[in-house]
Amino acid sequence: MKILIIEDEQEIADGICTILEQAGYETGLAFDGQNGLEEMQSGVYDLVLLDVMLPKLSGFEVLRKARNDGVFVPVILLTALSETGDKITGLDCGADDYLTKPFDAGELLARIRARLRRPEESIQNGLSFADLRLEQATFKLCGARKSVKLARKEYQLLEYLIVNHGQILPRETIITKIWGYDEESKYNQLDVYISFVRKKLKFVESRAVIVTTKGIGYSLESGE
Ligand code: CA
Repeated sequence: MKILIIEDEQEIADGICTILEQAGYETGLAFDGQNGLEEMQSGVYDLVLLDVMLPKLSGFEVLRKARNDGVFVPVILLTALSETGDKITGLDCGADDYLTKPFDAGELLARIRARLRRPEESIQNGLSFADLRLEQATFKLCGARKSVKLARKEYQLLEYLIVNHGQILPRETIITKIWGYDEESKYNQLDVYISFVRKKLKFVESRAVIVTTKGIGYSLESGE
């Protein structure tokens, strides 16, 4: 997942970059509206964080032009506290969400996760991997012959593993993704949920397996 940050204040941009990279995202930076628009049009980003007050083109202009050009990447606007009118203008211009500065890391990451989930796509097509299908509308995990309902965290965990299948996902990254930023107490829950999901994979008689890489993390493999 790659996120573009269009923000002219270097310190804020760097801060956001650090938060995102620690959470396992790739990042790109643009410091003015014109450059930001060009980066948005490149099509390589999964999400854009867009400041409103920018040199060359404002955030609103960037957004309007991008949407007119058929660029539909999710955009979260970054607005200052005083600019309440901006939120409405922003949503009218085609923003998907907005965050009021100053925001904390947890809030930023939660908003990003919500936007990257792409519910419309998952509901229509489900998410498939190997002999598995995950249905977002019902939280059901379906194997070739059997299916089982997943708890919310189990669903989120398996969804994340499926989207990134074949890659070893570091424990910290998974925890941040599923339980949020800097919640160390959630560390042990990961193992518990991994074992729940493994049991459910077994129950639906899937050949897919969650592989443990000791001291690093987990990966989902097709088991072929
Ligand atoms: Ca600014």
